[in-house]
Amino acid sequence: MSLVKSHPQLGVLDLLVTNLRGVGTERAEQLARLEIRTIAELLLHKPRRYEDRRRVSRIAELDLMQARTVAGKVVAMGTKRYSQGRKSVFEIILDDGSARLHCRWWNLPFMQKYFTQGDEVLVFGKLHSLRPREVDHPETEIIEGGEESSIHLNRVAPIYPLTEGLPQRWLRGLIWRTLGEFSTRITDPWPELAKEGFPSTEAALRSLHFPEEPADEEKARARFAFEEFLALQLDIQERRWRLRQREAHSCRGDNRFVKQFLAKLGFRLTQAQTRVLKAIRHDLEAGEPMRRLLQGDVGSGKTVVAACALLMTLESGYNGVLMAPTEILASQHFENFSRWLEPLGVQLRLRTGSGERSCRGTGEELEAAIIPGSASNFSSAPGSQTDEIQTAEKKPDVASSQRLPPSAATSPDGRAETQPTLFIGTHALIEDSFEMDRLGIVIIDEQHKFGVAQREKLLRKGKCPHLLVMTATPIPRTLGLTLYGDLDVSVIDQLPGGRCPIRTFVRQSDKLPKVWEFIRAKLKEGRQAYVIYPRVEEGGAGRPAKAVIAEFQKIQKHLTSFETGLLHGRMKSEEKEKVMERFRSGTVQILVATSLIEVGVDVPNATVMLVENAEQFGLAQLHQMRGRIGRGAHESFCILVADARTDDAQRRLKTLEETADGFKIAEVDLALRGTGDLTGQQQSGLPPLRFGDFSRDLPLVEKARVFATEIIGRRMKLSAQTTQTAEASVA
Ligand code: ADP
Ligand code: MG
Repeated sequence: MSLVKSHPQLGVLDLLVTNLRGVGTERAEQLARLEIRTIAELLLHKPRRYEDRRRVSRIAELDLMQARTVAGKVVAMGTKRYSQGRKSVFEIILDDGSARLHCRWWNLPFMQKYFTQGDEVLVFGKLHSLRPREVDHPETEIIEGGEESSIHLNRVAPIYPLTEGLPQRWLRGLIWRTLGEFSTRITDPWPELAKEGFPSTEAALRSLHFPEEPADEEKARARFAFEEFLALQLDIQERRWRLRQREAHSCRGDNRFVKQFLAKLGFRLTQAQTRVLKAIRHDLEAGEPMRRLLQGDVGSGKTVVAACALLMTLESGYNGVLMAPTEILASQHFENFSRWLEPLGVQLRLRTGSGERSCRGTGEELEAAIIPGSASNFSSAPGSQTDEIQTAEKKPDVASSQRLPPSAATSPDGRAETQPTLFIGTHALIEDSFEMDRLGIVIIDEQHKFGVAQREKLLRKGKCPHLLVMTATPIPRTLGLTLYGDLDVSVIDQLPGGRCPIRTFVRQSDKLPKVWEFIRAKLKEGRQAYVIYPRVEEGGAGRPAKAVIAEFQKIQKHLTSFETGLLHGRMKSEEKEKVMERFRSGTVQILVATSLIEVGVDVPNATVMLVENAEQFGLAQLHQMRGRIGRGAHESFCILVADARTDDAQRRLKTLEETADGFKIAEVDLALRGTGDLTGQQQSGLPPLRFGDFSRDLPLVEKARVFATEIIGRRMKLSAQTTQTAEASVA
């Protein structure tokens, strides 16, 4: 996002930088490489760091490995070449009266042209040796005399990101002069922010570049970060408001499918599932399109909720679509839903990258069920779970549903004549060539694996369909408010009963023999296991790690009494499907896989998971993978084998050992990774933030949200009044 856009009032600041004295074609080109084309962009060029030049250190007092600024005179310089002249080191020796400092640049012989003996130089870097005092590749700035020195010295000086050929000093001078010249013409787009304790735009710009104290810079950053969050919130809330003005199909259904489905399920919905379904039913009948995010930790039972939402829509005479990020998961959904829905007379179609399959609903069950007498088994059981998800006002019109012919599935008001269809698939569903008619609801499973653009494209296949997106990746609140700010959020905060908690252990790789002994014992008891490796094949770039193909062969050789299966992303879909089927049915006991199994796969008898090179996986990813176990009645074990060397890796693994709470894990993940590398942020369609930082700006995000709500509220009121006035004047 360019802040220039959110500063439309800064008219004059939209002038091109070429209007500034001293900016010719060459400088303009260099600035353009830094995305600086207008004066506003120049003024919003954020310093990379600040240097407090009111107190430079003395060379004699420098400590090892501490980043410090010193100033001194160049007393000697020269280039040494070695390796037959192919390599070189350029060195200057600086003296500040207290001691000498050797500054070295390796293989950058052109550095020589920047210095002359006798130059006064500022140097920022870390000592890596004390005898002699040496610093490699420091940042430097030549001190020049003249009145301009007050811009660069004896103050907190901004250090900007640069591009080749653009001197720090020149850019700092340009920004200084531009601020001075244009400060009276800077208007504040949000003067009301003063009440909230933010500095004005002008004051913020001053402290952004030339803070009086290092702490002032944070106030400036907060102001601009707030504007970034505000722009995002305004955008989200306006979109939401416009959507509210549109009318959607009423898809509450008449309960005839849902009832059958729940009765056959074999378990009762948890309270959390029931609560979410009530909210969904309420959305589906409300008239405006549903936009709901369903968050529920792995294994909390989101699929069943999705099934009910789809069935309500199908009952209403509209079709539904369920999109999942991988073929394995789409096929798994297709299998489950076929089993559940075929007897109800629902037609199912699966579409993935490798083709299409369909399943014609037979409608037997429904037929049986609507024969008076047999239906009553389900319909009138007091306190049955179907009753629980009814909204109070409307009871299902059982009479009308019983009159229906089983497979025609005409809705009570006769909207549709054909068999209701559920489309299931991967991204292949989005392709232009694929059409779906009478689309009532779009459900996206593992939503964080998709981008906003994909979600929108799928929605456009229908006329304002309802939307339910599901994710097991808990989103830290800051991100949730922004990424999903246009969605209502439901949380399944309860796991189905009868589950044993997963016990997680972190072990060093020298404990592997013991780990395998343990796995063997569990397999003998009849359980199944996942064994995960970070790579498909050995070699290649990056850190060394075990590869799944080689390890699979070893495991096969060593564990001859068990059936072993291999699963990774480079296999053909049929092969993947086949091995998954064999694992699901229990023929395969050990599934050796990559992180491909991360999403959605559901095999309750698999209770052991071994992850090797666990340090190479992200925290959220490990949590997702671990969610593949702990789905049945047997105790589950997750063993993370890692030789974690960095603090971050150790903290990640320790977090997993200590907690199974997805939200806690997400917060730690965000704190460890910081912004820019967040699950889904790149894909999310969110613009990169220049000032804001999702990992630490929750209060700002919340404030921006409240602020945006007020603004949108005022605009809505205004637009309503204008319409009224217009109507009055017409009358
Ligand atoms: P996720 O939320 O991770 O998508 P699933 O929908 O795959 O979870 O459900 C995990 C497992 O729990 C499935 O085997 C599912 O059939 C089962 N399940 C779902 N709801 C319940 C429930 N209320 N009681 C018992 N088991 C349930
Ligand atoms: Mg799932």
